[in-house]
Amino acid sequence: MNVVLSPHLDDAVLSCWHLLGGGRDVSVVNVFTGSPDSPGDYWWDQLTGATDSVVRMRERIDEDRQALSLAGLRPVNLGFLDHQYRPDGEPTAAVVERLRAQIPAGATVYAPAALSEHPDHMIVRSAALELAGEGFDVRLYADLPHDSIKLEGRGGRDRSVGASGPRQGARGQERESGGEETPAGGPRHGGMIR
Ligand SMILES: [Zn+2]
Repeated sequence: MNVVLSPHLDDAVLSCWHLLGGGRDVSVVNVFTGSPDSPGDYWWDQLTGATDSVVRMRERIDEDRQALSLAGLRPVNLGFLDHQYRPDGEPTAAVVERLRAQIPAGATVYAPAALSEHPDHMIVRSAALELAGEGFDVRLYADLPHDSIKLEGRGGRDRSVGASGPRQGARGQERESGGEETPAGGPRHGGMIR
C-alpha cells in the first residue's frame, strides 16, 4: 500500500497524481485541513479572493474531494491548522503521532521534499523523516509547483517565479498560505518563495 502525505488540500493531486490513479492501493492523508473559527483576516485567503476563510476551507476540502474522486479515492483529513491560521508553534510532534496511527504497517509513504521550505511542507517532511527513523519506508516527492520556482540565496541563483508558479485566484492551482505576493505574482514568505 502507498500512503501519500499531502501538507495541504491539493499537494497530493498536484505532485503525485501518477501515484493516485490506476486502481492502486493508495491512501491520501491531508495534514493541514483545519478551519479557523471565524472568517478572519488571513492574508493568503484574501490574496486569493476569499472573503470568508471558513467558507474558503470548505471550498478547498470539497475541491480536493472532487479531484481525488476522479481516481476513486477519498482523503483522510487530519485537521491541523495551516500556517496562516496558526497563532504560533509548529505541531510536528502531534503530526508524527497522528501519522503513526494512520499509516499501516508495511506501507510505502510518500512525503513532500519541502523544496521551497514552506513551513507546512517542512513539518510534514520532518514528521515523515522521524517515522523513517522508526523503520517506516519513506520516499520524498518533489512538491509542485514549488519545485518549479527558482530560488536565489543558494549559490547566488536567480529568485524568480516560473511560468507555472502560483497565481492569484486560479482555481485548480496551488492555493496555500505561507508567503506574500511577489511583483511577478508568486507568493513569497520571509524572503522565500513558497
Ligand atoms: Zn502545499
